[in-house]
Amino acid sequence: MPVTERLYYSDSHLIEFEARVVDLTDRVSGWTAVVLDRTAFYPTGGGQPSDTGTLDGARVVECIDDGDSGVLHVVQGAAPSRGAAVKGRVDWSRRLDHMQQHTGQHILSQALVKLFNAPTRSFRVLDASCEIDVELNNPTTEIIERAVELANNVIWEDREIAVLNVTSDQAAELPLRKEPARDGELRLIQIEDFDLTPCGGTHAYRTGEVGMIAVRSWERAKGLTRIEFVAGVRALADYRKANKSAREVAALFSTGRDDAPQVAAQMIEEHKDLNRRIRVLEEIAAGGEAEKLLARAEDGVVSEIFDGRDAESLKKLAHALIANSPTVALLASRDRDTARLVFARSADASGDMSALMREACAMLDGRGGGRPDMAQGGGKNVDRLPEALTRALTLLKGAS
Ligand SMILES: [Zn+2]
Repeated sequence: MPVTERLYYSDSHLIEFEARVVDLTDRVSGWTAVVLDRTAFYPTGGGQPSDTGTLDGARVVECIDDGDSGVLHVVQGAAPSRGAAVKGRVDWSRRLDHMQQHTGQHILSQALVKLFNAPTRSFRVLDASCEIDVELNNPTTEIIERAVELANNVIWEDREIAVLNVTSDQAAELPLRKEPARDGELRLIQIEDFDLTPCGGTHAYRTGEVGMIAVRSWERAKGLTRIEFVAGVRALADYRKANKSAREVAALFSTGRDDAPQVAAQMIEEHKDLNRRIRVLEEIAAGGEAEKLLARAEDGVVSEIFDGRDAESLKKLAHALIANSPTVALLASRDRDTARLVFARSADASGDMSALMREACAMLDGRGGGRPDMAQGGGKNVDRLPEALTRALTLLKGAS
Protein backbone atom coordinates (compact mmCIF):
# COMPACT_ATOMS: atom_id res chain seq x y z
CA MET A 1 0.00 0.00 0.00
CA PRO A 2 1.62 3.29 -1.08
CA VAL A 3 2.10 5.91 1.63
CA THR A 4 0.02 8.54 -0.14
CA GLU A 5 -3.38 7.87 -1.69
CA ARG A 6 -3.51 10.00 -4.83
CA LEU A 7 -6.93 11.61 -4.93
CA TYR A 8 -6.20 13.42 -8.22
CA TYR A 9 -6.18 10.02 -10.00
CA SER A 10 -9.91 9.62 -9.46
CA ASP A 11 -11.01 13.26 -9.48
CA SER A 12 -9.05 15.96 -11.30
CA HIS A 13 -11.47 18.66 -10.09
CA LEU A 14 -11.14 17.93 -6.37
CA ILE A 15 -9.35 20.88 -4.83
CA GLU A 16 -10.27 20.71 -1.13
CA PHE A 17 -9.49 17.65 0.98
CA GLU A 18 -8.67 16.51 4.49
CA ALA A 19 -5.65 14.37 5.29
CA ARG A 20 -3.26 13.30 8.05
CA VAL A 21 0.46 14.11 8.22
CA VAL A 22 2.47 10.86 8.12
CA ASP A 23 6.01 12.22 7.74
CA LEU A 24 8.03 15.43 7.85
CA THR A 25 11.56 16.13 6.54
CA ASP A 26 13.65 19.29 6.38
CA ARG A 27 14.71 20.48 2.93
CA VAL A 28 18.08 22.09 2.13
CA SER A 29 16.10 25.21 1.18
CA GLY A 30 15.09 25.55 4.85
CA TRP A 31 11.52 24.59 4.01
CA THR A 32 9.74 21.43 5.12
CA ALA A 33 8.52 18.47 3.06
CA VAL A 34 5.22 17.09 4.33
CA VAL A 35 3.96 13.60 3.44
CA LEU A 36 0.20 13.05 3.78
CA ASP A 37 -1.85 9.84 3.84
CA ARG A 38 -3.90 11.23 0.93
CA THR A 39 -3.54 14.20 -1.40
CA ALA A 40 -5.23 16.08 -4.22
CA PHE A 41 -1.93 17.82 -5.09
CA TYR A 42 -0.39 16.73 -8.39
CA PRO A 43 3.43 16.40 -8.15
CA THR A 44 5.74 17.41 -11.04
CA GLY A 45 5.84 14.68 -13.70
CA GLY A 46 5.05 13.73 -17.30
CA GLY A 47 5.89 17.22 -18.56
CA GLN A 48 3.31 18.80 -16.23
CA PRO A 49 4.47 21.10 -13.41
CA SER A 50 3.26 20.46 -9.86
CA ASP A 51 0.26 22.03 -8.18
CA THR A 52 0.60 24.74 -5.56
CA GLY A 53 -1.83 25.68 -2.79
CA THR A 54 -2.09 25.57 1.01
CA LEU A 55 -1.94 23.04 3.85
CA ASP A 56 -3.82 24.73 6.71
CA GLY A 57 -1.99 28.08 6.94
CA ALA A 58 1.23 26.97 5.21
CA ARG A 59 1.94 27.68 1.55
CA VAL A 60 2.63 24.63 -0.66
CA VAL A 61 5.21 25.85 -3.20
CA GLU A 62 5.98 22.56 -4.93
CA CYS A 63 5.05 18.88 -4.87
CA ILE A 64 7.53 16.12 -5.66
CA ASP A 65 6.72 12.53 -6.59
CA ASP A 66 8.84 10.30 -4.34
CA GLY A 67 7.48 7.05 -5.80
CA ASP A 68 6.43 4.52 -3.16
CA SER A 69 7.51 6.98 -0.44
CA GLY A 70 4.58 9.20 -1.42
CA VAL A 71 4.10 12.77 -2.51
CA LEU A 72 6.31 15.41 -0.86
CA HIS A 73 4.52 18.72 -0.25
CA VAL A 74 7.21 21.38 0.13
CA VAL A 75 5.77 24.02 2.47
CA GLN A 76 6.90 27.54 3.26
CA GLY A 77 6.05 28.79 6.74
CA ALA A 78 4.86 26.86 9.80
CA ALA A 79 4.55 23.19 8.87
CA PRO A 80 1.85 21.05 10.52
CA SER A 81 3.07 18.47 13.08
CA ARG A 82 3.31 14.71 12.52
CA GLY A 83 -0.04 12.98 13.00
CA ALA A 84 -2.00 16.22 12.65
CA ALA A 85 -5.21 16.41 10.64
CA VAL A 86 -4.86 19.10 7.95
CA LYS A 87 -7.02 20.75 5.32
CA GLY A 88 -5.44 20.98 1.89
CA ARG A 89 -6.43 23.38 -0.86
CA VAL A 90 -5.10 23.25 -4.42
CA ASP A 91 -4.79 26.50 -6.44
CA TRP A 92 -7.58 25.99 -8.98
CA SER A 93 -6.51 28.52 -11.64
CA ARG A 94 -3.10 26.86 -11.90
CA ARG A 95 -4.64 23.34 -11.96
CA LEU A 96 -7.15 24.37 -14.64
CA ASP A 97 -4.36 25.90 -16.75
CA HIS A 98 -2.25 22.73 -16.48
CA MET A 99 -5.23 20.45 -17.23
CA GLN A 100 -6.07 22.48 -20.32
CA GLN A 101 -2.49 22.33 -21.60
CA HIS A 102 -2.07 18.66 -20.74
CA THR A 103 -5.43 17.47 -22.10
CA GLY A 104 -4.89 19.74 -25.12
CA GLN A 105 -1.62 17.92 -25.73
CA HIS A 106 -3.38 14.50 -25.75
CA ILE A 107 -5.81 15.85 -28.37
CA LEU A 108 -3.22 17.60 -30.59
CA SER A 109 -0.86 14.59 -30.43
CA GLN A 110 -3.63 12.21 -31.49
CA ALA A 111 -4.73 14.58 -34.28
CA LEU A 112 -1.14 14.44 -35.64
CA VAL A 113 -1.21 10.62 -35.46
CA LYS A 114 -4.62 10.32 -37.12
CA LEU A 115 -3.85 12.73 -39.97
CA PHE A 116 -0.13 12.23 -40.59
CA ASN A 117 0.86 9.12 -38.61
CA ALA A 118 3.22 11.39 -36.66
CA PRO A 119 3.70 10.27 -33.02
CA THR A 120 4.71 12.68 -30.23
CA ARG A 121 8.04 11.90 -28.55
CA SER A 122 8.03 14.43 -25.70
CA PHE A 123 5.94 17.16 -24.08
CA ARG A 124 6.73 20.14 -21.86
CA VAL A 125 4.59 22.79 -20.21
CA LEU A 126 6.62 26.03 -20.35
CA ASP A 127 5.88 29.33 -18.58
CA ALA A 128 3.50 30.77 -21.19
CA SER A 129 3.18 28.00 -23.80
CA CYS A 130 3.83 24.26 -24.33
CA GLU A 131 6.08 22.22 -26.61
CA ILE A 132 5.76 18.82 -28.22
CA ASP A 133 8.45 17.08 -30.26
CA VAL A 134 6.79 15.15 -33.08
CA GLU A 135 7.98 12.67 -35.74
CA LEU A 136 6.73 14.89 -38.54
CA ASN A 137 9.13 15.20 -41.48
CA ASN A 138 7.70 17.94 -43.66
CA PRO A 139 5.86 20.48 -41.54
CA THR A 140 4.07 23.21 -43.48
CA THR A 141 1.48 25.77 -42.40
CA GLU A 142 -1.20 23.67 -44.10
CA ILE A 143 -0.19 20.42 -42.35
CA ILE A 144 0.04 22.04 -38.92
CA GLU A 145 -3.25 23.90 -39.36
CA ARG A 146 -5.09 20.73 -40.43
CA ALA A 147 -4.04 19.10 -37.15
CA VAL A 148 -5.05 22.23 -35.20
CA GLU A 149 -8.45 22.20 -36.90
CA LEU A 150 -9.12 18.54 -36.09
CA ALA A 151 -8.00 19.11 -32.48
CA ASN A 152 -10.36 22.07 -32.08
CA ASN A 153 -13.27 20.14 -33.59
CA VAL A 154 -12.69 17.39 -31.02
CA ILE A 155 -12.68 20.08 -28.29
CA TRP A 156 -15.90 21.69 -29.51
CA GLU A 157 -17.66 18.30 -29.82
CA ASP A 158 -17.23 18.21 -26.03
CA ARG A 159 -16.35 14.52 -25.92
CA GLU A 160 -16.20 12.63 -22.65
CA ILE A 161 -12.79 11.89 -21.12
CA ALA A 162 -12.75 8.67 -19.06
CA VAL A 163 -10.10 7.12 -16.82
CA LEU A 164 -9.74 3.31 -17.21
CA ASN A 165 -7.69 1.18 -14.83
CA VAL A 166 -6.47 -2.01 -16.56
CA THR A 167 -3.85 -4.73 -16.14
CA SER A 168 -0.84 -4.75 -18.47
CA ASP A 169 -2.29 -7.88 -20.16
CA GLN A 170 -5.54 -6.07 -20.87
CA ALA A 171 -3.60 -3.03 -22.08
CA ALA A 172 -1.64 -5.20 -24.53
CA GLU A 173 -4.94 -5.95 -26.35
CA LEU A 174 -5.87 -2.28 -26.67
CA PRO A 175 -4.92 0.22 -29.43
CA LEU A 176 -2.84 2.56 -27.26
CA ARG A 177 -1.36 5.71 -28.81
CA LYS A 178 1.90 5.14 -26.95
CA GLU A 179 3.62 2.32 -25.11
CA PRO A 180 3.13 2.26 -21.33
CA ALA A 181 6.23 3.48 -19.46
CA ARG A 182 5.75 0.91 -16.66
CA ASP A 183 4.41 -2.59 -15.87
CA GLY A 184 1.57 -3.59 -13.58
CA GLU A 185 -1.78 -1.87 -13.34
CA LEU A 186 -2.17 0.92 -15.85
CA ARG A 187 -4.21 4.10 -15.90
CA LEU A 188 -5.54 4.84 -19.36
CA ILE A 189 -7.04 8.13 -20.51
CA GLN A 190 -9.80 7.64 -23.05
CA ILE A 191 -11.16 10.47 -25.15
CA GLU A 192 -14.47 9.24 -26.54
CA ASP A 193 -14.00 7.65 -30.02
CA PHE A 194 -10.70 9.49 -30.49
CA ASP A 195 -7.75 8.62 -28.25
CA LEU A 196 -6.56 6.04 -25.73
CA THR A 197 -3.23 6.43 -23.97
CA PRO A 198 -1.60 5.58 -20.63
CA CYS A 199 -1.08 8.65 -18.43
CA GLY A 200 -0.81 9.60 -14.76
CA GLY A 201 -1.62 13.31 -15.14
CA THR A 202 -4.71 15.43 -14.47
CA HIS A 203 -7.23 15.81 -17.31
CA ALA A 204 -10.41 17.70 -18.11
CA TYR A 205 -13.75 15.90 -17.56
CA ARG A 206 -14.74 16.64 -21.14
CA THR A 207 -12.80 17.98 -24.12
CA GLY A 208 -14.85 21.23 -24.14
CA GLU A 209 -13.08 22.31 -20.95
CA VAL A 210 -9.83 22.69 -22.94
CA GLY A 211 -11.45 25.66 -24.71
CA MET A 212 -9.25 25.83 -27.79
CA ILE A 213 -5.78 25.05 -29.14
CA ALA A 214 -3.58 27.33 -31.22
CA VAL A 215 -0.07 26.70 -32.60
CA ARG A 216 2.30 29.62 -32.14
CA SER A 217 5.27 28.30 -34.14
CA TRP A 218 7.20 25.21 -35.16
CA GLU A 219 10.76 24.36 -36.14
CA ARG A 220 12.83 21.31 -37.06
CA ALA A 221 14.90 20.20 -34.04
CA LYS A 222 17.10 17.10 -33.73
CA GLY A 223 15.31 15.25 -36.55
CA LEU A 224 11.86 15.98 -35.06
CA THR A 225 9.40 18.83 -35.44
CA ARG A 226 9.08 20.97 -32.31
CA ILE A 227 5.61 22.50 -32.12
CA GLU A 228 4.88 25.34 -29.69
CA PHE A 229 1.19 25.52 -28.80
CA VAL A 230 -1.18 27.11 -26.32
CA ALA A 231 -4.52 25.80 -25.00
CA GLY A 232 -7.39 27.26 -22.96
CA VAL A 233 -6.50 30.29 -20.82
CA ARG A 234 -3.08 30.46 -22.48
CA ALA A 235 -4.66 30.66 -25.95
CA LEU A 236 -6.68 33.71 -24.85
CA ALA A 237 -3.63 35.33 -23.19
CA ASP A 238 -1.60 34.72 -26.34
CA TYR A 239 -4.36 36.11 -28.56
CA ARG A 240 -4.50 39.29 -26.46
CA LYS A 241 -0.73 39.68 -26.69
CA ALA A 242 -0.63 39.03 -30.46
CA ASN A 243 -3.56 41.36 -31.08
CA LYS A 244 -1.91 44.13 -29.03
CA SER A 245 1.38 43.88 -30.99
CA ALA A 246 -0.45 43.72 -34.32
CA ARG A 247 -2.54 46.80 -33.44
CA GLU A 248 0.51 48.70 -32.22
CA VAL A 249 2.36 47.95 -35.47
CA ALA A 250 -0.73 48.95 -37.49
CA ALA A 251 -0.95 52.26 -35.58
CA LEU A 252 2.64 53.07 -36.61
CA PHE A 253 1.50 52.80 -40.22
CA SER A 254 -1.80 54.60 -39.51
CA THR A 255 -3.78 51.63 -40.78
CA GLY A 256 -6.02 48.81 -39.52
CA ARG A 257 -4.59 45.63 -38.00
CA ASP A 258 -5.38 43.37 -40.96
CA ASP A 259 -3.97 45.81 -43.54
CA ALA A 260 -0.68 46.38 -41.70
CA PRO A 261 1.41 43.67 -43.47
CA GLN A 262 0.54 45.05 -46.92
CA VAL A 263 1.14 48.67 -45.87
CA ALA A 264 4.45 47.72 -44.22
CA ALA A 265 5.58 45.86 -47.36
CA GLN A 266 4.72 48.92 -49.48
CA MET A 267 6.71 51.21 -47.20
CA ILE A 268 9.74 48.91 -47.31
CA GLU A 269 9.63 49.07 -51.13
CA GLU A 270 9.39 52.88 -51.01
CA HIS A 271 12.30 52.96 -48.59
CA LYS A 272 14.45 50.93 -51.02
CA ASP A 273 13.54 53.27 -53.89
CA LEU A 274 14.44 56.30 -51.79
CA ASN A 275 17.81 54.80 -50.91
CA ARG A 276 18.54 54.20 -54.58
CA ARG A 277 17.66 57.84 -55.34
CA ILE A 278 19.81 59.06 -52.43
CA ARG A 279 22.80 57.14 -53.83
CA VAL A 280 22.33 58.79 -57.23
CA LEU A 281 21.99 62.26 -55.64
CA GLU A 282 25.09 61.64 -53.51
CA GLU A 283 27.10 60.94 -56.67
CA ILE A 284 25.93 64.21 -58.16
CA ALA A 285 26.59 66.13 -54.93
CA ALA A 286 30.07 64.56 -54.59
CA GLY A 287 30.90 65.78 -58.12
CA GLY A 288 29.95 69.38 -57.22
CA GLU A 289 31.78 69.21 -53.89
CA ALA A 290 34.89 67.80 -55.61
CA GLU A 291 34.94 70.71 -58.05
CA LYS A 292 34.93 73.25 -55.21
CA LEU A 293 37.66 71.42 -53.27
CA LEU A 294 39.86 71.08 -56.37
CA ALA A 295 39.53 74.80 -57.09
CA ARG A 296 41.41 75.61 -53.90
CA ALA A 297 43.77 72.58 -53.89
CA GLU A 298 47.52 73.10 -53.91
CA ASP A 299 49.52 70.89 -56.32
CA GLY A 300 46.51 68.63 -56.87
CA VAL A 301 46.37 67.59 -53.19
CA VAL A 302 43.06 67.87 -51.32
CA SER A 303 43.32 67.49 -47.54
CA GLU A 304 40.11 68.02 -45.58
CA ILE A 305 38.48 67.13 -42.24
CA PHE A 306 34.69 66.85 -42.10
CA ASP A 307 32.29 66.35 -39.22
CA GLY A 308 29.98 63.31 -38.98
CA ARG A 309 30.44 61.74 -42.44
CA ASP A 310 30.47 57.96 -42.76
CA ALA A 311 33.15 55.98 -44.61
CA GLU A 312 30.86 55.43 -47.60
CA SER A 313 30.34 59.16 -48.08
CA LEU A 314 34.09 59.85 -47.78
CA LYS A 315 34.81 57.16 -50.40
CA LYS A 316 32.29 58.66 -52.84
CA LEU A 317 33.91 62.07 -52.49
CA ALA A 318 37.40 60.54 -52.89
CA HIS A 319 36.31 58.81 -56.12
CA ALA A 320 34.84 62.06 -57.46
CA LEU A 321 38.12 63.87 -56.65
CA ILE A 322 40.52 61.36 -58.23
CA ALA A 323 38.45 61.25 -61.40
CA ASN A 324 40.39 64.49 -62.09
CA SER A 325 44.09 63.93 -62.84
CA PRO A 326 46.51 64.12 -61.20
CA THR A 327 44.94 64.28 -57.74
CA VAL A 328 45.60 62.99 -54.22
CA ALA A 329 42.70 63.07 -51.72
CA LEU A 330 43.44 62.84 -47.98
CA LEU A 331 39.95 62.91 -46.44
CA ALA A 332 38.92 62.53 -42.80
CA SER A 333 35.78 62.72 -40.74
CA ARG A 334 35.14 62.74 -37.01
CA ASP A 335 32.31 62.36 -34.58
CA ARG A 336 32.45 62.27 -30.78
CA ASP A 337 34.43 59.05 -30.40
CA THR A 338 35.60 57.94 -33.86
CA ALA A 339 37.86 59.33 -36.55
CA ARG A 340 37.61 57.92 -40.11
CA LEU A 341 40.10 58.32 -42.93
CA VAL A 342 40.04 57.68 -46.68
CA PHE A 343 43.17 58.33 -48.75
CA ALA A 344 43.09 57.96 -52.56
CA ARG A 345 45.06 59.05 -55.60
CA SER A 346 44.51 59.05 -59.35
CA ALA A 347 46.58 56.56 -61.38
CA ASP A 348 48.96 59.26 -62.58
CA ALA A 349 49.64 60.77 -59.12
CA SER A 350 52.38 59.49 -56.83
CA GLY A 351 52.36 58.33 -53.19
CA ASP A 352 51.63 55.08 -51.29
CA MET A 353 48.20 55.63 -49.74
CA SER A 354 48.43 52.40 -47.74
CA ALA A 355 51.73 53.46 -46.11
CA LEU A 356 50.37 56.96 -45.33
CA MET A 357 47.23 55.41 -43.84
CA ARG A 358 49.17 53.12 -41.51
CA GLU A 359 51.21 56.09 -40.22
CA ALA A 360 48.13 58.25 -39.69
CA CYS A 361 46.13 55.50 -37.98
CA ALA A 362 49.00 54.73 -35.59
CA MET A 363 48.65 58.31 -34.30
CA LEU A 364 44.90 57.76 -33.79
CA ASP A 365 45.36 54.52 -31.81
CA GLY A 366 43.58 52.79 -34.67
CA ARG A 367 44.16 50.64 -37.72
CA GLY A 368 44.02 51.06 -41.45
CA GLY A 369 45.44 49.95 -44.77
CA GLY A 370 44.61 49.16 -48.37
CA ARG A 371 46.23 49.47 -51.78
CA PRO A 372 48.86 52.00 -52.95
CA ASP A 373 46.10 53.99 -54.69
CA MET A 374 43.25 53.64 -52.15
CA ALA A 375 43.27 53.03 -48.39
CA GLN A 376 40.97 53.52 -45.46
CA GLY A 377 41.15 53.37 -41.69
CA GLY A 378 40.29 55.10 -38.46
CA GLY A 379 40.87 55.30 -34.72
CA LYS A 380 39.56 56.39 -31.34
CA ASN A 381 41.94 59.26 -30.65
CA VAL A 382 39.79 61.93 -32.35
CA ASP A 383 41.77 64.85 -30.86
CA ARG A 384 44.89 63.93 -32.84
CA LEU A 385 43.10 63.82 -36.19
CA PRO A 386 44.46 67.21 -37.50
CA GLU A 387 47.97 66.17 -36.47
CA ALA A 388 47.60 62.76 -38.18
CA LEU A 389 46.42 64.36 -41.41
CA THR A 390 49.31 66.88 -41.37
CA ARG A 391 51.71 63.99 -40.85
CA ALA A 392 50.28 62.16 -43.90
CA LEU A 393 50.58 65.36 -45.94
CA THR A 394 54.20 65.87 -44.89
CA LEU A 395 55.09 62.26 -45.74
CA LEU A 396 53.39 62.61 -49.14
CA LYS A 397 55.31 65.80 -49.99
CA GLY A 398 58.60 64.30 -48.77
CA ALA A 399 58.13 61.27 -51.05
CA SER A 400 57.35 63.23 -54.20
ZN1 LIG B 1 -2.27 12.93 -19.68
